Formats: sequence, C-alpha cells, structure tokens
Amino acid sequence: MPKFLTCDMCASSNAMSETARRCPDCGRFTHPWEDVGKLTGAAPGDLCATWDGVYVMSLKFKDALDDAGVIGIEYKQVARTRFAVRPVDHVHLDISQALYQAKDFCLRCGRFATFQGGGTLIQLLEGQRPVGPMEIVRGVPGFGNGAFVVDQLIAGDALANQMKGKGHRGVQWLEFPAQVDPATLVYPPKRVIGVPE
Ligand SMILES: [Zn+2]
Repeated sequence: MPKFLTCDMCASSNAMSETARRCPDCGRFTHPWEDVGKLTGAAPGDLCATWDGVYVMSLKFKDALDDAGVIGIEYKQVARTRFAVRPVDHVHLDISQALYQAKDFCLRCGRFATFQGGGTLIQLLEGQRPVGPMEIVRGVPGFGNGAFVVDQLIAGDALANQMKGKGHRGVQWLEFPAQVDPATLVYPPKRVIGVPE
C-alpha cells in the first residue's frame, strides 16, 4: 500500500518566479512547473511546501531518494542546496469520506481555486493505476488556498520503507487513509465534494 508523503516543518517561503503566469480570474498559477524560479525565505525541513505551492527538497533528501532508486519525479534547482520537485504522473484520490471542500470553481481555467479540509480521510481512489514500489506520484485533487494549492505526494511502499527512520527533518510517511493538516480546518466543516457552489 503506498504512503502519503507530507511535511510538517514548512515556513514562509516562495519558489515561483516573479513573472510566473497566473489565471487572471482566480489567481492560480497556470504553468506551475515551467515558472518555478528561485527559493526565497526559509525552507527548514528536508521537505517543504512553499506558500506558492511548490514542493522543495533539501540536497540531502534528494540524494537519499536518488540513492534509494526513486522513479517518477523531476527536479529543478532553486537554491544552492534546495530543489523544487514534481512527480510526473498522477493518481486521483478519493475524498468522498473527507471533511474536505473544493470551492471557488474558476470558469476560465477550469479548476477549483480553494481546497480545504481538516481531520479528514484521504484515500486512494479505486481503479487508479497502481503506484510503483519505488515511485512517487501526485495525488489530485490538491489541497490549499489561492496560490497555495499543492497536489499530494504519494510514495510507493518499498521507497517509503527504505526512507523511513533516516532522520529527515519534517518528513512524514503516512498510512492511508491519511489526515490532512487540521490547521486549515474550515469552520463549519461541510461535506461538499467537488461541486461548484
Ligand atoms: Zn482560474
């Protein structure tokens, strides 16, 4: 069973270029990988999500993943020892049991601008292609608000087993069903799943 790869040590940082293209209606980035720029601010963990929705890894974590034989991710260097990372492929998550909202559907770019939830269950959707044992894929839908909408990171179990316990700061390998960050809990929580309001 794949693991939910997440981080709990993020600080205020950004990694999109100043000229990154955005949807004029909802403000979400339209080329979130092509327009990655330089890291500004602190990324204290070995894995961090920046405020503008980019996963950033330390050189140490990147080297450990590469040594383990990770597949399916690409990197861009954003600082001397920090790399933006993005899985190439994705799987869909089942958020039907989640206290999780997809809101603010943008008619121009065809995406939700806001995803929020808390204490919620996120599961792999049945019928998705399997996640390879050494693979990392994106899990969609993402999570967050405005510019900070990050897809989830889903890691193969053999990779997770190799990487666990290596002392990487702020990195978590969680079992499914996984809980999302309660700090972003919406009050009152509603079971509104993927339906424009
Ligand atoms: Zn939009």
